[in-house]
Amino acid sequence: MRATSDSIVCDYLVIGAGVAGLRAAISLAAHGQVLVLAKDTLHESASEYAQGGIAAALSDDDEVTLHEQDTLQAGDGLCDPEAVRTLVAEGPHVIEELLEWGAEFDREGGELVFGREGAHSRNRILHAHGDSTGKEISRTLYRKAASLANVRFLSFAAVTDLLMADGEVRGAVAFDERYQKRHPIYARATLLATGGLGRVYKETTNPNVATGDGVAMSWRAGAVIRDIEFVQFHPTALHLDGAPRFLLSEALRGDGAFLRNAAGERFTDELASRDVVSRAIVREISRTGSPHMFLDMTHFGPGVMEHHFPRIYQTCLHYGLDLTRQPAPVHPAAHYAMGGVHTDLNGLTTVPRLFAAGEVACTGVHGANRLASNSLLEGVVFGARAAAAMTALKHCEAKGEIPRTEVFPAMTESHLRSITWEHCGISRNEEGLHTAVSVLRSVPLERRDEATRVDYELRSMRRVGLLIAQAALDRRESRGGHYRSDYPEKAATAVHSRLARSA
Ligand SMILES: Cc1cc2nc3c(=O)[nH]c(=O)nc-3n(C[C@H](O)[C@H](O)[C@H](O)COP(=O)(O)OP(=O)(O)OC[C@H]3O[C@@H](n4cnc5c(N)ncnc54)[C@H](O)[C@@H]3O)c2cc1C
Repeated sequence: MRATSDSIVCDYLVIGAGVAGLRAAISLAAHGQVLVLAKDTLHESASEYAQGGIAAALSDDDEVTLHEQDTLQAGDGLCDPEAVRTLVAEGPHVIEELLEWGAEFDREGGELVFGREGAHSRNRILHAHGDSTGKEISRTLYRKAASLANVRFLSFAAVTDLLMADGEVRGAVAFDERYQKRHPIYARATLLATGGLGRVYKETTNPNVATGDGVAMSWRAGAVIRDIEFVQFHPTALHLDGAPRFLLSEALRGDGAFLRNAAGERFTDELASRDVVSRAIVREISRTGSPHMFLDMTHFGPGVMEHHFPRIYQTCLHYGLDLTRQPAPVHPAAHYAMGGVHTDLNGLTTVPRLFAAGEVACTGVHGANRLASNSLLEGVVFGARAAAAMTALKHCEAKGEIPRTEVFPAMTESHLRSITWEHCGISRNEEGLHTAVSVLRSVPLERRDEATRVDYELRSMRRVGLLIAQAALDRRESRGGHYRSDYPEKAATAVHSRLARSA
């Protein structure tokens, strides 16, 4: 790797240090110098917060064809069948690899324990330390990647743009807020592993880094963005003043937790799908005028919360809520982006030398809705596949212009997030979506001499909000995570949305 005070040249640039980026870096290291960037600390990612688990058809009574069927069913007619087959077929191998690298999944009597989750027809979910699965997988992958001489990490390096030359991506521009400087990083192949876009919404379970930068920068570079209107909302995020929107896993409802309104009445089937439960909560909130509903685990047996859900129990306790005695205030929140940067089965986007893997990508495995616990798996499977394809690329000249015009939306983050929540959220309609498009489009753009990371993030969030609103407006049906109150039925034919910047 060659670095001067102004630029860096490496073979492979990986933008993002979640499961997708880390898994890719491990494979890339055998073929050249790899630089892994993270916008914040190396550990601030959705991967670190994933509680539920990782799915793979590994148990004795399971088969990859059953995992395939369950995934297709959840995707509501919009999955790419070949992508799904790839995910489920390669799932068992990547789990074995993780075990080999030291991942400590939960066991009983030495045997792996396979849990069950809604919409999975078999017990196939592996957990680690109860509800810290993503953290354990990230720890394992990070330790492996950091042990390889060819892998370097750079934290607090926010990528703002992709570097373009001759119609190809030749690396990216990273912003160093401390010195108000942007550095070009040149590479023969670039992987976007920037995660999700939940922060575009007022209510979200996603970490602060999930501002959709990867989608926005690849859209600017001309990439096709596919199915971006499909956002999964999780029904039960903790809704407590001063606390983050911490996820209260659906395993709690699976284990018998009740949803109650402020009067203590149950109002929905707790075991219905995420979308149905989310809409039921929103309806009940609007009917009763309460700020939130309640998830009640107070009837669980002694020790269940403490031992089966230690992270949830301890986190709530930290915010003064003892779940063995008090129900938790909950509200739905944006949780997962099914769509993103369109890729083929090897992570290649529609722009040469640009790859994408993990939540930022739209491989087609999730279709219109994600099957729980398939996203960590997708990150690992497609992170490895993208790396294999990246190594086939020949060396190229280190060049590319840093985009000069720096204009940023003149609006606050909270205004933007409220607009998307209100008009592009759980229940959408034509009027609201038109409002979102016109408000976001007409935001004045201002020049800034001293831009901050927040300015760049706001620029991404506005673009992603616009893409979601436009695609949701064009989709006159309800399917998977996309619900239109004015078109509540599913159309006879399933079509993908595709948005790209016009030249
Ligand atoms: C609370 C929660 C619980 C979840 N539970 C589960 C679960 O149980 N099972 C499951 O399968 N999935 C779960 N998910 C989803 C899953 O965690 C994510 O889809 C997955 O971890 C995404 O991995 P990733 O590598 O694509 O991105 P992430 O893990 O989000 O990593 C993104 C990386 O990109 C970096 N980055 C972003 N923008 C930039 C930029 N501009 N410049 C430089 N770096 C950048 C970030 O710093 C970070 O390092 C959960 C998600 C959340 C939020």
